[in-house]
Amino acid sequence: MKKTWGQHFLRDKSVAQDIIQAASLTKDDRVIEIGPGRGVMTRLMAPLVRQLIAVEIDPRLAQGLQADFRPQPEVIILRQDIRRYKLPSELLSGPLKVIANLPYYITSPIIFQLLDWHLVNPEFRKTVIMVQEEIAQRLAADPGRKEYGVLSIMVQFYAAVHIVRLVPASCFTPVPKVDSAVIEIEFLPQPREKVPSVPTFKKVVKAAFAQRRKTILNSLKHNYGINVDLLDLSLKEAGIEPGRRAETLSIAEFARLTEAIYEKQKGNN
Ligand code: SAM
Repeated sequence: MKKTWGQHFLRDKSVAQDIIQAASLTKDDRVIEIGPGRGVMTRLMAPLVRQLIAVEIDPRLAQGLQADFRPQPEVIILRQDIRRYKLPSELLSGPLKVIANLPYYITSPIIFQLLDWHLVNPEFRKTVIMVQEEIAQRLAADPGRKEYGVLSIMVQFYAAVHIVRLVPASCFTPVPKVDSAVIEIEFLPQPREKVPSVPTFKKVVKAAFAQRRKTILNSLKHNYGINVDLLDLSLKEAGIEPGRRAETLSIAEFARLTEAIYEKQKGNN
């Protein structure tokens, strides 16, 4: 058992079934499974889909699955780090889904990798993944909640996030320290809001939350790198009270603020 690879195997098959049911798999789907482990979900999914590519970092586990699935050419087991996996040409278009009980040490980078895949292949519309409960709450959080932050906004900008179910630590072996949750991320046909530049939007959101206990005016003043008069004007134009805190701003408000700041800085350069 490799602790460093976040190996906590599902021993409750009903959880695997719930994940697969939430994905609404069809025979048109190609599926990427991240970290198949001993194959509890791989075995359930294989008969339901057109092609299943399972990417597993642990050579021992990958070899075991390669032997098990040799008679099934629609199942491809790759011994690879998912962070180095590039979508092959046949996955750059056409229906694609990603299913995983994620290794928790790399949850956030993988979620951002999935966003990139969606931008490359817009027919990749849905992913169902198991994550730590705390991350699930952050991904799904609405404004005003303490879990609401950069991760919630950057994912919800592109997707609707829904918690499918909570999964207690006792459903895994070995038992992890934290509870988990299954989440469904359904990418929207268009980003939720129009912004003049996504990198600027990201920069505004990150700077706003850099000191989340401060007012939006102060946090941006210290972390964005913008003249305070321009910032004041931008907040006014966006209809945002400068005394509010970042965690109270909706994604639409962040988008309006981005537009105002972008225009001011453009005029200033
Ligand atoms: N899917 C199995 C299950 O539900 O029982 C295993 C889930 S376990 C939480 C995470 C799996 O991801 C492990 O099999 C681990 O070896 C694998 N893994 C960890 N890091 C990985 C990486 N960077 N790329 C691919 N697989 C990885």
